[in-house]
Amino acid sequence: MTEGMNDNILAPDARTPLLLHACCGPCSIEPVELLRREGFEPTICWTNPNIQPLTEHDRRLATLRAWAADVAHVNVVVAGDDRATWETGVAPHGFDRAARCRACYALRLAEACRTARELGFSYVSTTLAVSPYQLFETCGDVLAKTAAAYGLTPVWRDFRPYYPEATRASRDLGMYRQNYCGCRFSAAEAAIERHEARDRRKAEREAARAAARATR
Ligand code: SF4
Repeated sequence: MTEGMNDNILAPDARTPLLLHACCGPCSIEPVELLRREGFEPTICWTNPNIQPLTEHDRRLATLRAWAADVAHVNVVVAGDDRATWETGVAPHGFDRAARCRACYALRLAEACRTARELGFSYVSTTLAVSPYQLFETCGDVLAKTAAAYGLTPVWRDFRPYYPEATRASRDLGMYRQNYCGCRFSAAEAAIERHEARDRRKAEREAARAAARATR
């Protein structure tokens, strides 16, 4: 998508303003371009109190800001990052991922919608719709309900088919890419999944070697 990305895109002042909640730089690449192709002009809204530790949060925000300024030429608004409310409203769900992520989406998208209202936007969307690791249906449901509560129009698209392209483009640009969603629970879950995948690969290699020995 990045090749010839400006073809057939309206001039910025002819597009419809939209506030785009962004979880990180790499996940913003494709949604910004696709929304522009649809006739929207996104302004990115950063509100991610879920990202732990704070150094990781700051690294992702810096990566997003650098890409937005140097590559995408998109404005970035830094909204509230209420880490205390994340701890009291989201963290108690622990490893109940469905409940935890729903609460996490609700907190972040409520702040994005509040910011959209404050800044005069009518349309709101989120880059969370690009990652196959997110709970897509849950996130869409939360965005629809939260946008309605704030009198906004949700722009919910299935950006997931563009995730491989986002991965390639962000690597080509040398952007920092994290290997977990954001919270400490997701870091532990991702580490377990990596260990399990490594163990599976090891077992497969050993089985293949045993099968090769048996046929000699
Ligand atoms: S896995 Fe991601 S979306 Fe779910 S609670 Fe953790 S940071 Fe939030």
